[in-house]
Amino acid sequence: MKAEHYVGGVFRSDGPAFPLVAPVDGTELGAVPEATREVVDDAVAAARSALKGPWGAMSAEERATALRRVADGIQARSEEFVDAEVADTGRPRAFAETVDVPRAVGNFRAYADLLYGRPERAYTTRVPGWSSGTGEALNYTVRRPLGVVAVVSPWNLPLLLSTWKIAPALACGNTVVAKPSEETPSTATLLARVIDDAGLPGGVFNLVHGHGPGAAGEFLTGHPGVDAIAFTGESATGAAIMRNAADHVTPVSFELGGKNPALVFADADLDDAVDGTVRSSFTHSGQICLCTERVYVERPVFEEFVARLGERARALDGYGPMISAGHRDKVLSYFRLARQEGATVVAGGGAPRFGDARDGGFHVEPTVLTGLPETARTVREEIFGPVCHVAPFDTEDEALALANDSPYGLAATVWTRDLSRAHRVAPRVETGIVWVNCWNLRDLRTPFGGVKASGIGREGGEYSLDFFSEPVNVCVQI
Ligand code: NAD
Repeated sequence: MKAEHYVGGVFRSDGPAFPLVAPVDGTELGAVPEATREVVDDAVAAARSALKGPWGAMSAEERATALRRVADGIQARSEEFVDAEVADTGRPRAFAETVDVPRAVGNFRAYADLLYGRPERAYTTRVPGWSSGTGEALNYTVRRPLGVVAVVSPWNLPLLLSTWKIAPALACGNTVVAKPSEETPSTATLLARVIDDAGLPGGVFNLVHGHGPGAAGEFLTGHPGVDAIAFTGESATGAAIMRNAADHVTPVSFELGGKNPALVFADADLDDAVDGTVRSSFTHSGQICLCTERVYVERPVFEEFVARLGERARALDGYGPMISAGHRDKVLSYFRLARQEGATVVAGGGAPRFGDARDGGFHVEPTVLTGLPETARTVREEIFGPVCHVAPFDTEDEALALANDSPYGLAATVWTRDLSRAHRVAPRVETGIVWVNCWNLRDLRTPFGGVKASGIGREGGEYSLDFFSEPVNVCVQI
């Protein structure tokens, strides 16, 4: 898939090119155009002008129908989307087939559903008037689009996470300028093709490729013509974007990094807890923001849990490479740091050798660590690789204190068969999402987001519609 910008309904490839590298074996997949400031300016101008065109005049139902056409278009080209996502990320094909592409289709359908047939409920709230000294008045609230929305997304779930924001932004009547990660430009380009084929007016959706700092990402998020920024990525990048957006007081919705805890109580079903932790720590080689990197296990089952998790980690195969040589080196540097900090390496701790083309790729071993103090950098900093540290605890309060002692607050998992404990503990975990006896079970209507350094705001269902539209109160004196 040749990466191209899509600006004002036209595909173009201007700007210097940079290479796209396959993480599975290090080969070059093609060249990606780097958007200059001029390309970004053109994209923002096209998006602003499209607000005044037919898109701005469409009813919610008409927009819902357009979103459904996009969903159908992704579905119809799902093989191409799977090929592109697998090539860019090196992830297992089954993951792209069962997660990335269905969720992208689901993102467009879910927001079409929210609008279609019930625009009143999704879009307008009427409240009865009340008497005051000046007489009776009727107040009602309408929601109007924010305007031009910048969507900046990461490489770990490229299509899933960009459509998670693009779909509700469009549903609310905004226009969009999207900038995918420089590491994974291909499915975004295919999405632009689908949107073009679906007949959305030129300028409603725009796509620019390129890097972040000092480049397309920074040009876009600091642009005076951008009315809101929806960003997913590292917390430090979120902070940089906030500084950049501050001059224009641009509203932001941020989904950022995590250092997610799992709490395993001695009364848990240990088979489920081990299975669940294998998934939550190692799926996509730990490159999901929701992955578990800190596991706290009640002391009576600690030894057994560590032994079983280590055995399972050593037997794992095929969760895919790190996204890039740079990220592989970062993850390996944390493995070295963990040893320096005094960790016991229960499983993994290095880079595998395959004896085939994959040795040119960016693979690391699923890794289980124990024995580190809570102050260790390995326990405090997000690594974003297939690694977790397991530590024992003795009481429920201690488990909660350990889980909450983190600058991050994205997601947590609690493993217990005690119903009272589950309901007692879950609300006290300082994260935006708490799973009980499961992990990454997602209903797109529920609020999704993090606390502390893990984000600002919530998205999902009506929560997204709240962010991507502006309530305007109309007060009529009767
Ligand atoms: P990243 O922050 O490096 O990059 C994300 C995007 O921001 C890319 O498109 C990049 O080009 C752009 N960018 C980088 N610097 C920028 C700048 N100064 N101005 C504007 N744009 C800039 O993140 P990544 O490495 O691509 O993704 C991994 C990170 O994303 C991890 O920290 C992970 O936890 C986080 N993440 C969070 C969620 C969530 O829902 N909370 C989901 C997925 C990933």
